[in-house]
Amino acid sequence: MKTIGILGGMSWESTATYYRLLNEGVREACGKLHSAPIVLRSVDFQPLQQYQHEGRWQEISTTLSRAAQQIEAAEAECLLLATNTMHKVADDLSAAVNIPLLHIADAVGEECHAGALDKIGLLATAFTMEDNFYQKHLQEQYGIAVAVPPAAQRQRLHEIIYQELCQGEKKATSKQYLLQCIDDLAAAGAQAVLLGCTEIGLLIEQQDSPLLLLDSTVLHVEQALRWSLGSDAHRVRMN
Ligand code: GLU
Repeated sequence: MKTIGILGGMSWESTATYYRLLNEGVREACGKLHSAPIVLRSVDFQPLQQYQHEGRWQEISTTLSRAAQQIEAAEAECLLLATNTMHKVADDLSAAVNIPLLHIADAVGEECHAGALDKIGLLATAFTMEDNFYQKHLQEQYGIAVAVPPAAQRQRLHEIIYQELCQGEKKATSKQYLLQCIDDLAAAGAQAVLLGCTEIGLLIEQQDSPLLLLDSTVLHVEQALRWSLGSDAHRVRMN
């Protein structure tokens, strides 16, 4: 097994899911007392989310690049940036280290190709839904058309993510709201909806919706497991 580097803490609620799923995947693939070789560097999210909301992406890039270098120095062999939104600075992080960054949108794109999906809906933070770095990656690298909810829904989703899910709060009313957004995207022609924020899977599961849901956290973990286990991996499925 190769050692997986996780740059997490954004938020730690979802980083905990990464840690658990990676270890469950290794147990499923290898049995006995095998567990995932991981280097975890977890940052303080409060100042970073403030930078996000002030548009100070250069400071974010500098902070996360240094953390990525610490992960590399601790002998991780790849880098997982455990958040969709922060992939806005993924190119900077890639350039800062000599280990491969396993891009979360590649995990999504490959899953869409495997399932012959070319029109999906996206639920995420406003940054991910509006700043075009994520949709552009899926469109240009994989030919996937990405639809997002209208502005009012995007704003509410953003609030639910930062004010509730990232702070460990799971409200039934917010769950219903997200399910309504999914129904609307399905009615607009989406073949599946991407849970493009690593915390959304804490609130919604596949059994909650008749539409196919793609959980970015699960897909990212599966990508890392395939990479770490190499030829020893059978296809580990989390769902
Ligand atoms: N974890 C979230 C994501 O996947 C949002 C928090 C962040 O801005 O990093 O986008």
